[in-house]
Amino acid sequence: MNDITAGTLRLPTRIHFGYGSRAQLPEVLRGHGRRVLAIVDPFLTRSPVLAEIRTALRAGGLDVEVHSDIEPELPTASLDTAAEFARTHRPDAILAIGGGSTLDAAKLVGLLVTHGGPLRRYYGENLVPGPTLPVVAMPTTAGTGSEVTPVAVVSDPGHDMKVGISSPHLVPAAAIVDPLLTLGAPRAVTAHAGIDALVHAVESYTAADPDRAWDATLPVFTGRNAFTDVIALRAVELLGAALPVAVGDPDDRQARENVALGSLLAGIAFGATGTHLSHALQYPIGAVTGTPHGLGTGLLLPHVLQVCLTDAGTVPRIAAVGAALGVAPSTVEEQARGAIRAVARLNRAIGVPASLAEIGVTRDQLPRLAELAARATRLVAIAPVPAPPTVLLDILDQAYTGHLAEGNYR
Ligand code: NAD
Repeated sequence: MNDITAGTLRLPTRIHFGYGSRAQLPEVLRGHGRRVLAIVDPFLTRSPVLAEIRTALRAGGLDVEVHSDIEPELPTASLDTAAEFARTHRPDAILAIGGGSTLDAAKLVGLLVTHGGPLRRYYGENLVPGPTLPVVAMPTTAGTGSEVTPVAVVSDPGHDMKVGISSPHLVPAAAIVDPLLTLGAPRAVTAHAGIDALVHAVESYTAADPDRAWDATLPVFTGRNAFTDVIALRAVELLGAALPVAVGDPDDRQARENVALGSLLAGIAFGATGTHLSHALQYPIGAVTGTPHGLGTGLLLPHVLQVCLTDAGTVPRIAAVGAALGVAPSTVEEQARGAIRAVARLNRAIGVPASLAEIGVTRDQLPRLAELAARATRLVAIAPVPAPPTVLLDILDQAYTGHLAEGNYR
């Protein structure tokens, strides 16, 4: 498909991927100075991997202080405490090792230490005034892509939903993705993080293609893009094939490798283009149900794609997603419908529920959820179809029952 003639990528200056790539860490960090604050996922404090990494960093002449008090959902107060700890240590760089929550925490601590709080000053897009303390990110889950993206998400008690801070200055300085670190991730974490990565890739590939005003400050998320088209489809291919295997056999090294690569590529893609309606809808649904982010975006994606079929220009793109998921070639329309069925089958294979009713949403909540999702204007604007609250409500109505016009396959 060759209908895109412009593109923007903002990435870490180094990205290393592969089993064993964590050995690059001392060299990468030395490029930023000697004093390192390691913000690590609480699960790692029990793991021999952290001891191994600390030993390697000390042997490499680095002075490392560890902070592992990362609270689920990242309440803003916990980030203030982490930033206070960071100011005491006065690091040259932050090393983030953990799931997306930990990586996001590190980005925001870097922001707070450099530019001061409160965090709410930066909610939204392009409000970070300049570079922050460099972050070297090593994910232990395969899903969020936070190691390469310009965004971090927090919970603020003053807001109904989680809030995002998006800025090119939040792109980590370096990313090291060693699939070994994901080997111990529990099945549910693997499934929910992995399906979120697939949603990133699909929503990146089906994003709108807005006019670019090259003579103005660019938005953080630029929409469909000449570079990311290639990357996103490869991510779909890798994740579609490997995710059910990694969930079924968490020790399958090849599957873990492919899911980790798919997640990284999806992060590179959506970090430039943005995501759209599954994400807009999941923010309020996550707040109401307390369900994991990826479970929600995965559940919603087939229903979002169903609505995207109404845009003739997007149908070939959904068909290309189908091809990447192994749907046999036929007419473009058939392959696009096949893509929707394939995503629903993948959800089923990895244990993602089929309906909002199953995760505790009630029918009378749907109008309010549509209204809240419509406020995520950055995400809604990147959808390939106009999505006023009425359309969002249509998607929710369908997702509530889990009934797909393309066939349930359950
Ligand atoms: P997570 O970081 O919340 O971790 C989930 C659980 O898994 C935690 O208990 C964690 O301790 C544990 N865990 C992580 N890695 C493990 C491993 N290898 N072995 C055993 N346990 C492990 O989950 P996540 O899905 O990685 O991140 C979700 C967060 O990321 C959400 O807050 C979401 O909003 C955010 N997010 C950010 C971006 C971004 O670009 N910044 C994108 C998508 C989502």
